[in-house]
Amino acid sequence: MRICQRCIYDENVPGISFDEKGICNYCRQIDDLEKQYDTGTPKGESRFKEIIDKIKKNGNGRKYDCVIGVSGGTDSSILLVKAVNWGLKPLAVHYDNTWNTAISTENIRKVTKFLNIDLFTHVVDNAEADDIFRSFLFSGVPEFDASTDIGLVQVLRSTAAKYKIKYILEGHSFKAEGLSPMGNNYFDGKYIDSIHKKYGSMKLKTYPNMKFYDFMKWVLIYRQQFVRPLWYIEYSKHEARKILEDMTGWSYYGGHHLENRATAFLHTIYNPQKFGIDNRNWSLAAEVRSGILTRHQGLKKYSEPIIHDPELVSYVKKRLCLSDSEYEEVMRSAPRSWHDFKTYKKRFERLRPLFSILAKAGLVPMSFYLKYCFPFPDNKR
Ligand SMILES: [Zn+2]
Repeated sequence: MRICQRCIYDENVPGISFDEKGICNYCRQIDDLEKQYDTGTPKGESRFKEIIDKIKKNGNGRKYDCVIGVSGGTDSSILLVKAVNWGLKPLAVHYDNTWNTAISTENIRKVTKFLNIDLFTHVVDNAEADDIFRSFLFSGVPEFDASTDIGLVQVLRSTAAKYKIKYILEGHSFKAEGLSPMGNNYFDGKYIDSIHKKYGSMKLKTYPNMKFYDFMKWVLIYRQQFVRPLWYIEYSKHEARKILEDMTGWSYYGGHHLENRATAFLHTIYNPQKFGIDNRNWSLAAEVRSGILTRHQGLKKYSEPIIHDPELVSYVKKRLCLSDSEYEEVMRSAPRSWHDFKTYKKRFERLRPLFSILAKAGLVPMSFYLKYCFPFPDNKR
């Protein structure tokens, strides 16, 4: 099997290609982003300083000048600490899908309390959350946890609009985590709607789904901007954890994506067992590219079995009222993909020239433009 000479991506990664040196297109994509954002260089730092000044100026005289989404995980927690150090006035926002682990709930409380930051939490009705999760399992698609990501963005944007805050800060780092390979998964508000309509059983009243016109309203009229500080500045997850532990009593939950039970089920059980998808490769590839692991260490870790919490399957069955045979059926039925359901994808592709301008102006995330506005290279239909 062909493996990239620099990272650990192999020929099974969707949309992969190799250049004459045997280096994959995803490594090149990260190189390009580093150049574009001057990541971790004095130039990147000073570009980011200008953004901070703009945020402060815009929020002058207001209680908050930015919104930061928090999950209790490393990246979003350290971003709160950094924002306060930069002299910003963040409002922390949490979307509670009711599957949080106790550690992450405690982490959110400890960090916001220590920093004296206000926290706004939107708690979805747990029966609704479970009805959506259940419908995703019965639909047979891999994006089990899509409703959490969409719900978080919608809550971030609607809270920002409510308090007239223009800037939304995100703790994503393409160097530390990589970008998910194109075609691996896809989701948007319409996808959630069409799957839930088909397989769900109750009306959604508290789930914050994102509709296309909402999205365009936040972008074009409210001119909300997503800022990803870690795309500009040097960042080490390891150091971040140490700072959080020493400073706020925050505690580590033992692995990437494990702070929420739905995400943990997706990454450690559902995706690998049903679809043969091992999402560890994004973060391992990223760690190899940035020299935290050698390529050999990365490949070795990738070959180790995925460990999951032995209680997790029975938790999922109980929460989603699945009998043993229904669970077996879900895990054994033929996999389906987002191509089988309605989405906004074609519309996003048609509007690519507009989104190109909006991404350059910072009005939609660059990763949205790169992932959502181009046909996937391995499109089957
Ligand atoms: Zn590579």
